[in-house]
Amino acid sequence: MEFENEYQQQIPQSRYECLLFDVDDTLYPLSSGLSAECTKNIKEYMVKKLDIEESKVLEMCVQLYKDYGTTMAGLRAIGYDFDDDDYHSFVHGRLPYEYLKPDPVLKSLLNSLPFRKVIFSNANKAHVAEVLGRLGLGDCFDDVICFESLNHKTQTVNASKSDNEPVGLLPKSPIVCKPSENAFQQAFKMASINPHKTLFFDDSIRNIQTAKLTGLTTVWVGSSQRKNGVDYALESIHNIREAVPELWESVNKSKDVQCSQKIAIETPVEA
Ligand SMILES: [Mg+2]
Repeated sequence: MEFENEYQQQIPQSRYECLLFDVDDTLYPLSSGLSAECTKNIKEYMVKKLDIEESKVLEMCVQLYKDYGTTMAGLRAIGYDFDDDDYHSFVHGRLPYEYLKPDPVLKSLLNSLPFRKVIFSNANKAHVAEVLGRLGLGDCFDDVICFESLNHKTQTVNASKSDNEPVGLLPKSPIVCKPSENAFQQAFKMASINPHKTLFFDDSIRNIQTAKLTGLTTVWVGSSQRKNGVDYALESIHNIREAVPELWESVNKSKDVQCSQKIAIETPVEA
């Protein structure tokens, strides 16, 4: 027993115990064209279902996304009432998912890292599952935090009753989503995440900057620029190994210690 404790203590503790990933434009590139199709569907929803004038849609879409993290959260904040499932099936349900192809390189990178891996997406569950399935990553993650995890059906449409944090002087949204700090804190609770031992990957700089405030170590995907709040920046998720080599170093050190311990255990037996 004494030996077991000593053995455990000598295995180097990794700086990380969990990897937290956004999905869209993070696990696959913006160049896939899926996000552009998504924006097209959002604009169509605003015109056809919410009767918003077509000439105003683009500007509104951009502004609401900027202010609230998702256009959907922004639309609800400024008083539009619609069914979440109807929105998601119109916006995500009609996406050309065939644009996404299996990514065995990413799968192998993820599988080589013995950390807990959790998805944290603003999108709905069906979309996340479809994307992960298309990329061939369906079995790479231990937990999924998505729209439905943070927004329950019973939640009132009345924005004033929202527990989402205020966005400056703008009206509050009843929808909880990144980059609100509340969304991060709820995700940590739900998935038992210690932000100080977690590496967070996202393509949105606003999500990255809030993430940094919560204690997460941040990886901005899709850009090699270093900005405030960014710990690591990588053009593609495929560059994890080059950008964050310490992830594998801790794995290798752990293996080395286990290996030398094994020899130490075996030697007296052989003598
Ligand atoms: Mg994203």
